[in-house]
Amino acid sequence: MTHKKFAMEHDKKVALVAHDNKKGDLVEWAKYNRILLAHHKIYATGTTGEILERELGFPVTRLQSGPLGGDQQIGAKIADGEIDFLIFFWDPLEPQPHDPDVKALLRMAVVWNIPIACNRATADFMISSPLMDGDYDRLVPDYDTYRTRKIPGNE
Ligand code: PGA
Repeated sequence: MTHKKFAMEHDKKVALVAHDNKKGDLVEWAKYNRILLAHHKIYATGTTGEILERELGFPVTRLQSGPLGGDQQIGAKIADGEIDFLIFFWDPLEPQPHDPDVKALLRMAVVWNIPIACNRATADFMISSPLMDGDYDRLVPDYDTYRTRKIPGNE
């Protein structure tokens, strides 16, 4: 399969999301990395965003709360190329009312080959990568093959 290149710029569009039992972890992580995050554009689901804005003191673009559609909004922005980095601390020990949306968001991140961190250790490695502050060409499979696939009865 061939690939297309999507340029990730120096200032990245980063989405931060955490389930309730993981919000403390995310806030602690974001505060520790406040300086590294400051020059990126930050998006978040509603409640996560409200807490982060207060704790970090810089603007966060807040979407709907996750269970009210926020995860889907982030997924849509990934598909539209408007978010290129996801830190998503989901809770492995508690079922969520919007579990299908959680799965869908993780799927979009893989479809569009954006970096995702689902726990603090991965987030630490990602934020300290030299690639974080440079330009990076993200390779995405060329989905034209899929778009132009044969549909039975529509040839
Ligand atoms: P919240 O949503 O930040 O509005 O709590 C997070 C989520 O459950 O996806």
